[in-house]
Amino acid sequence: MPWRETNDPYAIWLSEIILQQTRVVQGMDYYMRFLNHWPTVEALAAADEAEVLREWQGLGYYSRARNLHKAAKQIVETGYGLPVTGDGGHLFPRTFDELRALPGVGDYTAGAIASFAYNLPYPAMDGNVYRVVARLLDIDEAFDTSAGKKLFHQKIETLLDRDNPRLFNSAIMEFGALYCTPVLGDACASCPLQAMCLGYAHGTAEVLPVRKPRPKVRDRWFTYTIYTDGTRTLIQRRENPKDIWYHLYEFPCEESQTEDKYPFTHVLSHQKLHARFIVRKVQKMPDIAGTLVIRWEDLNDYALSRLTLRALDTLRLTPQN
Ligand code: SF4
Repeated sequence: MPWRETNDPYAIWLSEIILQQTRVVQGMDYYMRFLNHWPTVEALAAADEAEVLREWQGLGYYSRARNLHKAAKQIVETGYGLPVTGDGGHLFPRTFDELRALPGVGDYTAGAIASFAYNLPYPAMDGNVYRVVARLLDIDEAFDTSAGKKLFHQKIETLLDRDNPRLFNSAIMEFGALYCTPVLGDACASCPLQAMCLGYAHGTAEVLPVRKPRPKVRDRWFTYTIYTDGTRTLIQRRENPKDIWYHLYEFPCEESQTEDKYPFTHVLSHQKLHARFIVRKVQKMPDIAGTLVIRWEDLNDYALSRLTLRALDTLRLTPQN
C-alpha cells in the first residue's frame, strides 16, 4: 500500500480517513486523486469545501470529507511550528494529543499517524486488531462500547513493542487482515501465535470478538421529482447538519410515511432508504424555495448524493428524455 511506504503524516492521515468505512481497492483511487489534487495540507486547506465534497463523491459518509477539510484549515491556522521530515516538509501536528484534537480523528487514526509517521509508541486499533487481541487474550467483552475500548487499549499496551511501534502496528493489522480473519477455517492449525493464543486454547477464537447489539435500522421513503425543460433541471442542497448527506445536492425531495415498495433501495449504516424518481417535463421551471435551476451539463459540478448518482445511472437520464 502506498500509504505504508511513506512517513509523510499528511499522506498517512489522508489514507486513514479515506479508508475508514471504505474498501482498500476503492480507497486507493481516491487517495491518489486527493494527493495529486492537493499534495500538501496547505493546498487542501486552501480548497473550497464544495470542491472537496465533489472529489469525495461516491465514497459516502461525507462528514469525513468535511472534517478532513476542517482539520486541514485548523492545522494551517494553528501553524504547528515544526516542519516534518517527510515528503514536502510541510507542517503537521506531531504529538498524539495534537493529532487526536483534529476533527474526524479518533484514537485509531491518531495512533496510526503517530506510529506510522513518527514511530511513536501508540497502538492503532482497527477492526482487525480488535479481533486479533480479543482472540489472543480471549476477551469476551464487546469491543465497540466505551468500556470495551478502554479495556482493549489497556490490554494492547501490554503487547505493544515500544521500540518499534510502526512495525508492530502494521504487523498486527496485516496479521488480522490476512491470517486471523473473521472466518478462521484451518488458519489456527499452522498459526505462528498458536502457542500464546488463549482463544485457541479455550476454543473461543471463532466467536470472538464480541460486538454490542446493533441498533434498529430506520426505514425512510423519499420521492424525488426531476424537473426538466430540455436543457435545465432543478436541484437542492440538503441543509440539516443532523441528517444524512449534509450539504450534498439532489433533486427536489419529499419524504413521506408509507410502506410502499419503491424502485430504489439504498442502505446506509442505520437507515434504509426507499426512493422513487419521477421525471416531470415542464415548459417553465417551477419556483420552489431553496432550489437551484442549473443546466444539465453542469450537474457534475455539484457534489451529489450516492443515491442520486445511482438513479442518474440507472434511469440513463439525458436532457432530451
Ligand atoms: S491461533 Fe487462530 S485465533 Fe489465535 S491468533 Fe492464530 S489464527 Fe488467530
